[in-house]
Amino acid sequence: MANQSAIRTPIVCVMGHVDHGKTSLLDRIRGSSVVSTEEGAITQHIGATLVPIDAIIRMSGALSRVNINVPGLLFIDTPGHHAFTTLRARGGALADMAIVVVDINEGFRPQTIEALQILRNYRTPFVIAANKIDRIHGWRVHEGQPFLKTFAQQNERVQGVLETRVYELVGKLSDLGFNSERFDRVSDFARNICIVPTSALTGEGIPDILMMLIGLAQRYMTGSLRVTADGPGAGTVLEVTEERGLGMTLDVILYDGTLRVGDDIVVAGNDQIVETKVRSLLKPRPMSDILVEERFERVRSVTAAAGIKVAAPKLADVIAGSPLRVVRGGNRDEVIEQVRHEVQDIQVKLSDTGVIIRADTIGALEALSKELDSHQIQVMRAAVGPVTRHDVIEAGTIRDPLYSAIIAFSTPVLPDAIDALADTSMSHVSIFEGGVIYQLIDDYIEWREEKKQELERQRFEKVIMPARIRILPNCIFRQSNPAVVGVRVLGGKLQSGVDLVLPEGKKVGRIKQIQERNETIQEAEAGKEVAISIDGPTVGRQINVDDELYVDIPERHVKVIEREMLDNLRPDLRETLEEFTAIKRRENPFWGK
Ligand code: GDP
Repeated sequence: MANQSAIRTPIVCVMGHVDHGKTSLLDRIRGSSVVSTEEGAITQHIGATLVPIDAIIRMSGALSRVNINVPGLLFIDTPGHHAFTTLRARGGALADMAIVVVDINEGFRPQTIEALQILRNYRTPFVIAANKIDRIHGWRVHEGQPFLKTFAQQNERVQGVLETRVYELVGKLSDLGFNSERFDRVSDFARNICIVPTSALTGEGIPDILMMLIGLAQRYMTGSLRVTADGPGAGTVLEVTEERGLGMTLDVILYDGTLRVGDDIVVAGNDQIVETKVRSLLKPRPMSDILVEERFERVRSVTAAAGIKVAAPKLADVIAGSPLRVVRGGNRDEVIEQVRHEVQDIQVKLSDTGVIIRADTIGALEALSKELDSHQIQVMRAAVGPVTRHDVIEAGTIRDPLYSAIIAFSTPVLPDAIDALADTSMSHVSIFEGGVIYQLIDDYIEWREEKKQELERQRFEKVIMPARIRILPNCIFRQSNPAVVGVRVLGGKLQSGVDLVLPEGKKVGRIKQIQERNETIQEAEAGKEVAISIDGPTVGRQINVDDELYVDIPERHVKVIEREMLDNLRPDLRETLEEFTAIKRRENPFWGK
């Protein structure tokens, strides 16, 4: 495999809705290993499993006559969208291909659709595993067989059910803009998505799914999969873990070149670039060596694609998801620049105002921010790591209350952040935590809608409403300072504190108080008779019995009512408003517009 332009092992990630069989499918693929000493056996890597081409050919039997030059498939052991979006290589996805698992009996679910959207965003080729075919009523199991072999041995009814279900998937995929077909009917792999009926439980269809992945790699990926196998290594950090006797280590997927003991490497720390030297490279020990105490086997070098544990000094601060690059032949500055660039280049669009986002890795942060962007939700700050006290305080001071939120994707909230949240001055801040992006976004949007309505309610409560009143005869309780008179509310809603005008537009004074049966009230609806005290006028001069008066609504309030509230306004309020604006617009036709 060490010749100059070897085709490297493609990296595969398994995605799909929860419980549709991702883990089982991976387990089945791993478990299909023949005795591990045999040539071409499946081998366990750090964080990944290598299935060599020989093993695939052996499993697929009749399918083996294809001319193949892909060396095998490296499956990332952690299934799910998070792994896919988190693990990145040179700004794209680390996985070269994906399997989207969908329970053939349940069909598409939210995370199936999310997986497809992610794969489309990243332009990653994929196959669909239409899983759990053994659950179709009446299915006869043919353990580990290729699909067409077992399908041919099912009765007509079972075949019919399977076909119908596959077509339902074809329909759903078509709604999302993907052309697809059952894999054995696909002739153009670049245009059609293959649907492979499988059972992770019985192994039926597993050989086919492996062959389809090889086919995908072969047909339109070999260009990008060509690597110079002895070039300097490039990889992605899966995890930073402490190992007994080794100190801090990095679990790395190497996707390009070679990594050797003694190599100078560059990785990204939380605040700065970390340069260090590889002390040892470790692989998991095969299960057969159970007598050896050490869990890992030391190797001198590894070639892409591979999963490997790297022990080296100065790793404590390294962030998961960071790129790892080997410095070789005097390109140190260039390599540092590359790593810095890749980390800074996380394509998170930041705005002056917006939510604060947190995630456990760089890739996750970017995936979250992309989704937020597609929902037009602005982000003010984005960072890797748990939610801190500082985040809460910052979210609390954001001007727009609809952005006083922190979205934490697959990362915890620190105790002092929770304490800060308990402070009354921060009671308007919300934190959304979770491991599913669409759920987090839905939760935030729901919260924002509620908050928006609440703010609207508060604003409308402050708006001065129209009202028309008439001064009643025999109800002059006081002439002036203030004048106290009985009135009838003819239309609208009379509130205390408002100014009154005469129909010709002349100002009268301000209502100090409204009383009904000697009780002070804040407002009186149309039809009510109440006593009001008015600062300003004297009865008999500026106002008289039987005068009709209007509430003098400020221009700015009229604008709010006319633009935002008119549809929900009671007819008498609306009518009174029209009468009032007609008075104002006699002088200035554009008043309040
Ligand atoms: P994940 O959440 O997508 O990783 O799903 P799992 O692999 O954990 O599977 C969820 C459940 O479905 C488990 O109980 C599995 O045993 C079961 N399951 C998965 N694949 C199959 C299958 O092909 N056939 C049947 N009958 N059960 C399956």
